[in-house]
Amino acid sequence: MSDAADHDTLKFYRANAETYAQRQPRGTEQMTGFLAALPPGGSILELGCGAGYQAAQMLAAGFDVHPTDGSAEMAAQAQQRLGREVRTMLFHELDADAAYDGVWAYACLLHVPRDELASVLSRVWRALKPGGWFYASFKSGEGEGRDKLARYYNYPSEEWLRARYAEAGGWASIDVARDQGKGFDGELASFLHVMVQKQS
Ligand code: SAM
Repeated sequence: MSDAADHDTLKFYRANAETYAQRQPRGTEQMTGFLAALPPGGSILELGCGAGYQAAQMLAAGFDVHPTDGSAEMAAQAQQRLGREVRTMLFHELDADAAYDGVWAYACLLHVPRDELASVLSRVWRALKPGGWFYASFKSGEGEGRDKLARYYNYPSEEWLRARYAEAGGWASIDVARDQGKGFDGELASFLHVMVQKQS
């Protein structure tokens, strides 16, 4: 496996897909803003879709959703929920060009090794149509680390994250919002919600 994916993190999601699938949907506020920015019925690539709850919400809102996840076991959970194909795809395997109106990546790019993040973000930039929108969330901090479940986190500061986005491509705007919430490990964490628009 390439260094662009963290082996222990994927091992966790492969082994715990069924339990993780019991989690309740999150990110309603962020999704409302994201969907409002897109053309009605527009095409959305979802990265790290987990058990497919958010894909189900975006499909119900009438969008053309393409869910993906790097864990085949998690993709199978999503496929069962959605009744449609869910592609097993690692972030660094994304190779689309100007194909999507939006890319949705809720609480998943936080697992990309710090050295690889700008490269993955540039793949997302390339996959978007001009003027397309991209949402992603991260657990904030001051340097990489692992949680008690052995999952890797890049724990960015806002400043560090803005620099990685700027390195990755040309954006018309980069908006960062903050809140707090509990992760699957039960620990309270500070989140950075990043919404950007590709230059037209
Ligand atoms: N977005 C979903 C949600 O909010 O419920 C799942 C979030 S979960 C915290 C992170 C997801 O990212 C897992 O489903 C995991 O399999 C996936 N993932 C982790 N590393 C990945 C990688 N390198 N490529 C693709 N998916 C990955």
